[in-house]
Amino acid sequence: MNYKNFPMVPRIIFGRGSFNQLGDILAPKRLSINAPFIYLVDDVFKSNAFITSRIALSYDDKIIYVSSEEEPKTSQVDNLVEEIILMTKERPSGIIGIGGGTMLDLAKAVAIMLTNEGEAKDYQGWDLVKNPAIYHVGIPTISGTGAEVSRTTVLTGPDKKLGINSDYTPFDQVVLDPELTKNVPKDQWFYTGMDCYIHCIESLNGTYLNAFSQSYGEMALELCKEVFLGEKLSIKESQDKLMMASWHGGMSIVYSQVGVAHAMSYGLSYLLGTKHGIGNCIVFDHLEEFYPEGVALFKAMKEKHDIQLPKGICANLSDQELDVMISISLSLEPLWENALGKNWKKVMTPKKLKELYKKM
Ligand code: NAD
Ligand code: ZN
Repeated sequence: MNYKNFPMVPRIIFGRGSFNQLGDILAPKRLSINAPFIYLVDDVFKSNAFITSRIALSYDDKIIYVSSEEEPKTSQVDNLVEEIILMTKERPSGIIGIGGGTMLDLAKAVAIMLTNEGEAKDYQGWDLVKNPAIYHVGIPTISGTGAEVSRTTVLTGPDKKLGINSDYTPFDQVVLDPELTKNVPKDQWFYTGMDCYIHCIESLNGTYLNAFSQSYGEMALELCKEVFLGEKLSIKESQDKLMMASWHGGMSIVYSQVGVAHAMSYGLSYLLGTKHGIGNCIVFDHLEEFYPEGVALFKAMKEKHDIQLPKGICANLSDQELDVMISISLSLEPLWENALGKNWKKVMTPKKLKELYKKM
């Protein structure tokens, strides 16, 4: 057995208001006055002084506002890298991503592509990155994806949706300040939070499960239950706990994999642009066959928070469109193998997958 040797986020600060210490954290990392810090900030914060007023810009430091309307694309990463190269005198001292999974993934990918030749699409896959990324910091403002801790940055490219999985992908520093999540709209809070819940269920019910993944997965699952089904938590406690659930959920899949819901929602995302959180929810709602207990609890959470999921999103798709979705989904072999075991191809045939998609 050859065990994988994974890198981890080496520095993390946790606490309400810890965002105020960002300046102190970054100062020693400045390489020169010509090497700025570049902040990639979700444009939802453009008019929100709560976050931006606390970013102290010096020398040539810049904030680039980015829309998270669509999930990150390889071409968007290439354009951002180009823009940064043109606006800076020297290679930046660091890239700081502030926002949800979309901004965190963009920050990781941009930090990698500033030191590696070619285009982002060339690096979609496993261990293709040659040079270390520049210093990069992740600051989540919504909890659930685990992108703050993971070894991947999920990108949609010209012919696939696949992460840049590499030892250089994880952040050098993460700032976990649960207060930053205070304005997240309720539906989005649920969708992104459920990404974490689904990570737990898929990891804990997968054939790749081991004590490492199980311990993190169980911790994250307990936190999710408290947050989404409990009665006792204050708003602040709930924000704090969901941020830690996201972290542990992400840790759980480091040493295992996600499963059926993720494999299917990648297909939806590729064809229809359905976003990760809501896409996972739409799919997971129909997966009782694979995750009976997990789906029952999911339905209880949905009920409790009065969430209405879109219906019939695949109803009017042509056979060709369904086939594209099916081939994207089935190409994610490790996810299926984790979910259904070595003989997964016997269980999840294209025909079976089509039937499932048609329910959605
Ligand atoms: P997101 O980043 O797209 O944000 C969702 C919405 O919430 C956006 O409209 C955003 O503007 C808004 N928002 C974020 N913080 C807010 C705040 N504090 N106040 C008000 N609004 C706020 O969504 P997400 O679910 O966090 O991330 C999804 C992305 O993460 C997908 O692209 C997915 O592929 C990726 N992902 C990556 C990993 C990984 O390991 N790298 C894991 C899971 C998901
Ligand atoms: Zn996910």
